[in-house]
This record gives sequence, structure tokens and C-alpha cells, in this order.
Amino acid sequence: MKLIFLGPPGAGKGTQAKILEERYGIAQISTGDMLRAELKAGSEIGLKAKAVMESGALVSDEIMIAMLAGRIDQPDCAKGFILDGFPRTVPQAVALDAMLESKKMVLDAVIELKVDDAALVDRIAGRYTCAKCGAGYHDTFHKPEHSGVCDKCGSVEFIRRADDNRETVAARLEAYHAQTAPILPHYAAKGRLHSVDGMADMAEVTRQLISVLDGVKAA
Ligand code: AMP
Repeated sequence: MKLIFLGPPGAGKGTQAKILEERYGIAQISTGDMLRAELKAGSEIGLKAKAVMESGALVSDEIMIAMLAGRIDQPDCAKGFILDGFPRTVPQAVALDAMLESKKMVLDAVIELKVDDAALVDRIAGRYTCAKCGAGYHDTFHKPEHSGVCDKCGSVEFIRRADDNRETVAARLEAYHAQTAPILPHYAAKGRLHSVDGMADMAEVTRQLISVLDGVKAA
């Protein structure tokens, strides 16, 4: 299955994509994670993207489209993929359409995770991940069972994203509404758009997603 997750920062795209990745054997492609890896490696792309990411704005379409083109050809995408964080602008959506067509690939579904802006700042400002396995936690909503120890791998090291602070979150939300939300009608017109209530608790969101995707798969 080839899927796109759309939704504002903090909607739960990454968390849910990781769960679906395992269930359906498809690859989660997070362009944010790819950029953070470039940044960590000190590559030219990473250096170019650093200031933009820290301000909460979007990295140029040119860089992002080139970055994605090679990624969907990787062997882990053979059974499909979930794009998490791409496309982020209408030109990226148009470029993706052309890219998929040239590879004779068909997009199965675009899923929008709907969450109120008011809930997002608290969700983002308190989140952190295990430095070793990437498991996600939150200061209020999802603490590890034993304080300071990752439930999944036992690591005691955690990281917080540099852009997960209240000021940058406001800019990221603005970028979502101005540049990303206009993509929704693009996919609605193609009959590919499904909306899921991202305000529900995590397990309920997963249940709703599975119900949509099992329907898409059977169609
Ligand atoms: P994310 O992890 O998806 O929240 O992305 C973190 C940051 O990376 C964003 O605020 C942008 O600066 C940048 N970014 C990630 N994906 C894209 C994209 N498709 N287009 C432009 N910028 C992106």
C-alpha cells in the first residue's frame, strides 16, 4: 500500500505510522527524520536545512523532492510506504503525482489526522524519544513505566527535538495551515482522501486507521 499521512505537527503521524509500518510491512518515510539525519551527519543538505528547521519554516521544495525521489526506490519500500511529512506544499504534491506516475505506482490513500490547534502545543512541547530505539514518550500523556528507562529497549538516554519548543511550534502550525492544508482538496478531488479523528486516544486512532486501511486494501 502506498499512503500519505497529512496533519499538523503533533497530530500523531509519526507514532501511528510506526504502528502501521509493522502491521502492514510497509516503510515509514519521514522527511523530517531524513533531514534530522542529514543535519546530524553535517551534510550540505543538513547545513542548508538547519536554520530553516529551527525557525519552523519549510525547507525548499527542490531539496525535498530530490530527497524523496531516491527514497521510494529503496528495497524496504517494495511492499509500499507511508509518507509522513511529505508532501508539505502543493508543488510537492504535484511533483509526487508525476514521480509516482513515472514509476507506474498508484497512491492508495491519503489520510488526514484531524487535531485542534489548541491541543497541539501541549502535545509537542512535552514529547521526547528514546535515543537508542526511537520509541516516543510524553511528559504528561505517556511516561515510561519506570522513570528514565525506555520501555522498549531499556536505554536511559532520551532526546528532544530542537524545534519542539512553544515559539517554533507556532510557526510550524502557521506553515501547516498556509502551505500544507491546501493539499487536502487536491487529494479530495482524486477521491483518495480519508479523515480520521486524531483527538481520540492513541489506541482508538490506530483502530480507526486500521479500519480505513483494511477497507482500502479490500477495495
Ligand atoms: P517534521 O519532523 O515532519 O515535523 O519536520 C520537521 C521540519 O523539517 C519541518 O518543520 C520543516 O522545516 C522540515 N521538513 C520536513 N519535511 C518537509 C517537507 N516535505 N518540505 C519542507 N520542509 C520539510
